[in-house]
Amino acid sequence: MNDSKGRGSSRNGALFLENLALEANWPGPLKKPAAKKFANEYVASRRVSELAGGFKRMSTLHNMSNWVEKERFGLPEYLLRTCPASLREGRRLKTKFRLGCHDLRSSSCRMQLVRNAQCPCCESRESETIQHTLFECTAFEEEREVFLSRLYSVRPLARQLNDEYRCRLVMGHKLPREIEKTLYRYFIAISKLRLGILTEQGEGS
Ligand SMILES: [Zn+2]
Repeated sequence: MNDSKGRGSSRNGALFLENLALEANWPGPLKKPAAKKFANEYVASRRVSELAGGFKRMSTLHNMSNWVEKERFGLPEYLLRTCPASLREGRRLKTKFRLGCHDLRSSSCRMQLVRNAQCPCCESRESETIQHTLFECTAFEEEREVFLSRLYSVRPLARQLNDEYRCRLVMGHKLPREIEKTLYRYFIAISKLRLGILTEQGEGS
């Protein structure tokens, strides 16, 4: 029997904790409040690094890494606010876009459900990304105009943003609350229109 065994389970338990402390760069013996604070900080740092690692590893999280604050814990602000039942579908769509698990070809293609990621709603031959759908696709111009005119009246500076940054604004946390409902209405409208176009083409997804 080696040294770590045979001295009873409490010795093994202590060894386990010692190794854990070593791994976490524990600065030596600590009193309870200090130990608690240190443990919390360690857990928080591990969660952040795991999330950041996921951003690199998982392609569906690629967009999310541009839009979310990596240091945030708990629910993002837009999910904490009350949302009328009629607009919840729009809010759900925002979350799906943020998570990369939406119906657009740029996501479903990755999951090998369709042959290519080309936008089925217009003639541009562009990949059907979130940015293309929300800000570029000609199929949704009317709905987009309604949304953008409201956005510019609330945030005039948004006029100067390019589509990539406009996308970051609507997907991120700094979207003014006054524009939130208009955004959800926009998401719901284009999602319905898109489904209509696909149904006409005989696909329906
Ligand atoms: Zn398009």
